Amino acid sequence: AKAAGKRKISIYSHLNDEVTLKRFTLVRDIQQAIAGKQFYLEYQPRYDIKNQRVTCVEALLRWKHPSWGIVPPGEFIPIAEESGLIVELGKWALQTACREIKPLAEAWDFNLSVNVSVVQIMNQEFVATIKQILEAERFDPRRLELEITESALYNSEEKMRYFLDELKGLGIQVSLDDFGAGYSSLSFIQKYAIDTVKLDKTFVNTLTVNDRNAKIFSSIVSLLKSLETNVVAEGIETIEHYHFLTKNECDEAQGYLFSRPIPVHQLIEMVVELPHI
Ligand code: C2E
Ligand code: CA
Ligand code: CA
Ligand code: CA
Repeated sequence: AKAAGKRKISIYSHLNDEVTLKRFTLVRDIQQAIAGKQFYLEYQPRYDIKNQRVTCVEALLRWKHPSWGIVPPGEFIPIAEESGLIVELGKWALQTACREIKPLAEAWDFNLSVNVSVVQIMNQEFVATIKQILEAERFDPRRLELEITESALYNSEEKMRYFLDELKGLGIQVSLDDFGAGYSSLSFIQKYAIDTVKLDKTFVNTLTVNDRNAKIFSSIVSLLKSLETNVVAEGIETIEHYHFLTKNECDEAQGYLFSRPIPVHQLIEMVVELPHI
């Protein structure tokens, strides 16, 4: 008991504020949550604007904490990244998504997209892990899309090129997520072959604010289309946004207007009966 008490003191002496304490607790809880099956996935469909069919579903992590309830990914993903736990959590998410979505994706002919963190990409074993999961789940790599954010830009070009070439070799598609949020640059698109660009919801939300924003949006979409990139608009919440997209060259749309992220059993009903827009 004395030894335990000592250890406790030495840990707490390193924590200088409440935030650190919460973080410390979260890291421990994430470890337990992976083992204790507290994580699960929801899926949000993406629609082709022209023919209004589901082209892809995006897997989104959810954490049901035993005492705090549902913890949003915006809170636990950064901590999982800092602590390195994202490697294990990301592996779990990819494998689970492949397993849950495979029968649906094959029956209705759509893709699965999974978000990946820069920390996972930096991990030496990531490509081997992906291969192993695809084989174990017998998931067709051509049906898999990996969503990466621009922060991956800060990786060395050599590392990114290796990673993207490996994915291409396997037939996996790559999406650039959150485009148009914050300090966006075109350098990622200039440098690498990106299959899909997902326009961030904050960018989409500027649309109806004024005509100038709408023009910038349309120009970016045209530019991306001229590079033969598949363009997806995220965070479509209103019919006005949707109508604007139909007047653009934008290929696909995703957002609450069509569907919120939903558990796999609800997804089955969803695909059978598409929402009427
Ligand atoms: P994201 O990849 O940009 O995912 C889209 C987020 O926007 C999701 O939030 C989704 O629920 C939300 N969203 C979808 N449609 C709408 C809409 O019409 N309006 C609004 N206001 N929001 C909408 P969520 O599920 O809370 O996820 C937040 C972020 O957490 C994700 O952003 C992603 O960066 C990260 N994340 C989630 N799951 C994973 C994962 O498995 N791995 C990694 N590395 N990151 C993940
Ligand atoms: Ca995403
Ligand atoms: Ca996004
Ligand atoms: Ca985001």
